[in-house]
Amino acid sequence: MKTQYTAEEALQKLKEGNARYLQCEQNPGDVSCRIRQETYAHGQHPYATVVACSDSREIPEAIFSCGIGEIFAIRVAGNVINDTQLGSIEYAAEHLGVPLTVVLGHTNCGAVGAALEGHTDGHVGVITKDIIKAVKGTIDPIAASRRNALWQAERIRGVLAEHANFKVVSALYHIEDGSIEWLD
Ligand SMILES: [Zn+2]
Repeated sequence: MKTQYTAEEALQKLKEGNARYLQCEQNPGDVSCRIRQETYAHGQHPYATVVACSDSREIPEAIFSCGIGEIFAIRVAGNVINDTQLGSIEYAAEHLGVPLTVVLGHTNCGAVGAALEGHTDGHVGVITKDIIKAVKGTIDPIAASRRNALWQAERIRGVLAEHANFKVVSALYHIEDGSIEWLD
């Protein structure tokens, strides 16, 4: 198993993985006993950090045809970025050498929908207030999900900019057909 990737190689692997996902009926990622033992003995070398929504229809490992040891996954409703997410991303970049972070929004996102409807009560409000800032008055749900992913990616770049070899991109996952729309 290759242990060092550039950001460009990592992005290419994700694109190829999504192309396989569009053709397959089941996740072809390697979750075998062999890979479990290999990653247990030699540690993990994931090539991408993916910040995805918690939505049960957006499974990062499945979307990119990945198995054990490939994706450092961060899932939170609305794929928002706060200090705990930044800490996870920083850890992946500094200690695991992950060269690429993807902020992956999606269509029909309940968190974005709640933000557009102005629901800001309770702990959900921590998320929706953040999305309201991100979408800057956009009312179309898909456009708002795009803006949110772009804005959260920009926030990562702004805080963790000192990591020269650490690329951040954003994307929109289309739950209706399984495709990825790369945004930047
Ligand atoms: Zn969502």
